[in-house]
Amino acid sequence: MTRKISSLIYIILMIYLFSIYAYSAELNFSNSTFSMKCRAAEFRPGELYIFEVRPNSGQKIVSVSGAFLETAMEFYAVGDAFIAMFGVPAKIFPHKYDTLINVKFDSGKEVSGSFELPIRKRIFKLSRLNVDPLYLEYTSETLQRIEVEKQVLIAIWKKTTPEKLWDGLFIYPIASEITLEFSIKRVFQGEFRSFHSGIDLRAKDPTEVLAANKGVVVLTGDHFFSGNFVIIDHGRRLFSFYAHLSAINVKESDAVEKGQVIAVSGNTGRITGPHLHWTIKVNSVNIDPVSITEMKIY
Ligand SMILES: [Zn+2]
Repeated sequence: MTRKISSLIYIILMIYLFSIYAYSAELNFSNSTFSMKCRAAEFRPGELYIFEVRPNSGQKIVSVSGAFLETAMEFYAVGDAFIAMFGVPAKIFPHKYDTLINVKFDSGKEVSGSFELPIRKRIFKLSRLNVDPLYLEYTSETLQRIEVEKQVLIAIWKKTTPEKLWDGLFIYPIASEITLEFSIKRVFQGEFRSFHSGIDLRAKDPTEVLAANKGVVVLTGDHFFSGNFVIIDHGRRLFSFYAHLSAINVKESDAVEKGQVIAVSGNTGRITGPHLHWTIKVNSVNIDPVSITEMKIY
């Protein structure tokens, strides 16, 4: 009887553990010389796809190159594997897309492979907001400011720090409720304006903002849309961005630890009420920050 109960507990525990890890989708491909694994929280727009290439033949891989969605992937050596992180844009058409992988072995041999990867349908909700008209009707000066700030950010997202600076899972910068999800279609005063580039976290009162992971502060400032902001470079073209801050506690080039207080939330920039806006960028693409807190990335 006790044995039956303990095996029942074991089964329940296994189901529970499986349900935790089932969040992550995984596909495996293999040919005679190398194998490739692709993981994502889900295979859908706005997610981080992680590619892992390993040798099958006992040979040593010296380099891997590849392309997905007509974009070159950057592979990094991790042990005997090569890893690439790839942000799938929120606006991509759901379809099966080819991934092209080219592997160079130490013997001088080069092998290419093509693998079909799914990007499944994802429905993004609509959010209707009313903001100060000042933030919708731009003067030419404001338009100029917006353009300059946009170019500053584009240059930041292109920065490449080859080292992996982060450590383990990412954490939420504020432990509170998500008030606006990722990539919601935002309609201001009845007119479609933009897709939400990250998530909003409830922070009615000024709340300490924590670094989502280890990294180096790459930029702080005050922009038209985001108000006071901090950007942390986590290496390998992975960045976290914190906006609408009332105070900033760090400066450019500061090394930060995961969980370190970097700022205080507020209501600066284009905003309908105080909250923290949090964006994650991978290879210049916005991905759903929720996924990065739930899946292991290399
Ligand atoms: Zn936001």
